[in-house]
Amino acid sequence: MKADPFRQQRLLDLQAIDTRLDQIAHARAHLPQAAQLARATDAAEVARGNLVLAETELGDVQREVSRAETEVKQVRDRAERDRARLDSGTGTSKELLAIQQELESLGRRQATLEDVELEAMERAEAASAEADRLRAISDEAAAQVSTLTAERDAAMVDLDAEATEVAAGRPAVVEAVGPELAALFDSIRAAQGGIGAAELKGRRCMGCQLELNAGELGRIANTPADVVVRCEECERILVRIPSTDGAA
Ligand SMILES: [Zn+2]
Repeated sequence: MKADPFRQQRLLDLQAIDTRLDQIAHARAHLPQAAQLARATDAAEVARGNLVLAETELGDVQREVSRAETEVKQVRDRAERDRARLDSGTGTSKELLAIQQELESLGRRQATLEDVELEAMERAEAASAEADRLRAISDEAAAQVSTLTAERDAAMVDLDAEATEVAAGRPAVVEAVGPELAALFDSIRAAQGGIGAAELKGRRCMGCQLELNAGELGRIANTPADVVVRCEECERILVRIPSTDGAA
């Protein structure tokens, strides 16, 4: 392919743009904030799960407390009714004796139930404290997720803005390169890991970093400047920059 040397040299500008766009895309896909966010999200889910378990446990214990309270109240009410009957003095002595016995039994039952109630209340207090502790952890983890989400989004916005700015300059460079040469460049770039054109610097292809042998260098030196040459090793377009001292 033939192309004006100036157009060939503009390939390096095009390469710089595309390399930068690739770097931005890579940075976008590998944001450190995204990895941190993924870890924080996992941690927040675990913390949330622990909180749900603790709240379920608390609810269960609180129901135990309520049940114990109800039972204690039932026994107290019954004892109160019994005492009222005893105080009224109505009934046969046999009945009154039975009530007396029941009152004693109710007293023992009440003491047992109050122990159960107290024990349940102590467990409810501990469960409540544990739920509070896990709620604080969960809230903190959720806040961390929010913070990292905002940071990740801000980093994305910055990268997107830079990509847009860099990409905006591409059409003009493509035009300077010319459609045919730009198409060749694009196809090589796609096949060669993102680099389609590289400078021939001294003996070295800056695309594959290999030095060209003397025969190849001689062939290139004898190739007119308006002929597009390619590296034998990596097949990329070799861009020849005339040196400032006048030698080719
Ligand atoms: Zn090469």
